[in-house]
Amino acid sequence: MDWHAEKQAILQQARCVVIKVGSAVLTDEHGLDLHVIKNLVKQLAFLHSKELNVVLVSSGAVAAGRAVLREESSIGGVPGKQAASAIGQSRLMHTYDQLFDAHGIISAQILLTKDDLSNRQRFLNARNTFTQLLSWGVIPVVNENDTVAVQELLKFGDNDTLGSLLLNLVEADLFINLTTVGGVLCANPEKVSNVTIMPCVEDVHSLDLDELCGGKTSVGTGGMYSKLLSARRASQLGVPTLILPGKEKDVLIRAFEGEEMGTWIRANVRGISRRKFWMAYNQNVYGEIVIDEGAAKALRSGGKSLLPAGITSVEGDFMAGDLVRVVTTQGDAVGVGLSNYNAKDLQMVKGRKLTELMESNEPYFEAIHCDNLLIGAVI
Ligand code: GLU
Repeated sequence: MDWHAEKQAILQQARCVVIKVGSAVLTDEHGLDLHVIKNLVKQLAFLHSKELNVVLVSSGAVAAGRAVLREESSIGGVPGKQAASAIGQSRLMHTYDQLFDAHGIISAQILLTKDDLSNRQRFLNARNTFTQLLSWGVIPVVNENDTVAVQELLKFGDNDTLGSLLLNLVEADLFINLTTVGGVLCANPEKVSNVTIMPCVEDVHSLDLDELCGGKTSVGTGGMYSKLLSARRASQLGVPTLILPGKEKDVLIRAFEGEEMGTWIRANVRGISRRKFWMAYNQNVYGEIVIDEGAAKALRSGGKSLLPAGITSVEGDFMAGDLVRVVTTQGDAVGVGLSNYNAKDLQMVKGRKLTELMESNEPYFEAIHCDNLLIGAVI
């Protein structure tokens, strides 16, 4: 199916959509931009009326809090940002509650940290809450819990990432990212003149993001770099992403009614299992396994487990069952997976051939079983 037809079919048939909207769309120099939020809520009410389950991931708490305090110079540092978020989040939610109420829709606030989703029990608890809310026709409004998520281990980092992880939690079939630009540009505008917006990205995994977006460092918490990384995760799950200009009036309604806007990012035809997605993206990475080029080639060809013979070194102090990164001796990322061995034992078996492992009765012949390995993980 060509991408036009695929896009229209998915927009018509989707049952559950995660829509992420960034601070720059929702706010102006005075704080929350009510004009934009009112229009957004009207559009979400339109999608809701089409029997579509809608989950909104909304930033804007910090910007709204800053506008209330109006003393930006004293809001520096992490605690200042957290405090501004605490002030702004209730304003943001109050605004949504009132605007949704005018459409006869109930909204609900959900604040999450990465830690919440890395704990399987809490992941399932959160999933039950979403399922219940959606079955009641409620629109959940999600944000990162900035009060407690300040360190790398607890933080999603940005709401694009949070949105992509929610696709798995709520079993969405479409991801929409509302941003301040018109879509994904075909080249880096800092290097090339007359760049145009790509209406479709066929294979998001093959894009050179450093070249296209100028690398990760230039984008703060969001930017196109993190939107495309999130689109890659979505694609692995078999979920397409639509990047749209969020400040444009009625952009969602127009897109759902067939107007060609923004960038459609196609998904992998065969998505990975939800379990593998959770394993790769909801847990922290505790170490690194370095492998030779032969092993990397074998793993990338698909369906293979990582054997100790291909391992050249082991970094970090991880336990058996922990998530580790797999890289080549050249430093190229291969993927992530759950190690069968702890770091100490893996040091002992690394480089050993299958026959040697059998002779010495080692408990596992694979360092990482292929069922617990995601090649090309986007972390
Ligand atoms: N949680 C932050 C806020 O509500 C935004 C984080 C982000 O935009 O990625 O202001």
